[in-house]
Amino acid sequence: MNQTKDAYVCARCAAVGATCCRLNPGQEDICFPVSELERQRIVEYGPRLGGLTGAPNSKSFLDNLRRLFPGDRALVTRRFPPHGEHLRLATRPDGACAFLAPDGCVLPREARPYYCRLFPFWISAGAVTAFEARGCLACTEARTVAGMLELLGMTPANVRELHGRLRLAWGLVPGGPEEPLPAKVENNA
Ligand code: SF4
Ligand code: SF4
Repeated sequence: MNQTKDAYVCARCAAVGATCCRLNPGQEDICFPVSELERQRIVEYGPRLGGLTGAPNSKSFLDNLRRLFPGDRALVTRRFPPHGEHLRLATRPDGACAFLAPDGCVLPREARPYYCRLFPFWISAGAVTAFEARGCLACTEARTVAGMLELLGMTPANVRELHGRLRLAWGLVPGGPEEPLPAKVENNA
């Protein structure tokens, strides 16, 4: 799920696969959280869309967040305490995001959650990097992060800005210490 839904490579991706706007059914637990700020933007765009749902801060949800922010495990736990709840994108029985229409995301780019707008990019150990995301055509076609950025119409500055905004929205101080990402991170939604 990402901002890049508008890019040609994403349209080609949608023609051949599930894209990053769909989780494998049963993996909904690892969907990223949607902050209050992000919720408000979505609601402002379409208050009756109903594409969000509450979810428990389960072990798999927390494990996934700790993998994303390996240098901020304690902060993640404080922000998302075990047994608490968070908001996330609702999914359909087939794992598709509730905002996904046949021709792509119904939300305008500026109303999409930061994680959607960032994917498949991330900041790891201070560097712009990308997830080794199975099924991401941009990852398959471009051999380098620079190539993926070009394919998806992004710049390193875009990625840094969005990542900083995401951290702020999720209650994680921007610029905190981070370690290298694990080799594999699941797709989005
Ligand atoms: S909100 Fe849903 S459909 Fe839109 S980009 Fe994110 S995951 Fe995809
Ligand atoms: S998985 Fe990759 S290529 Fe496919 S829609 Fe998402 S960002 Fe675009």
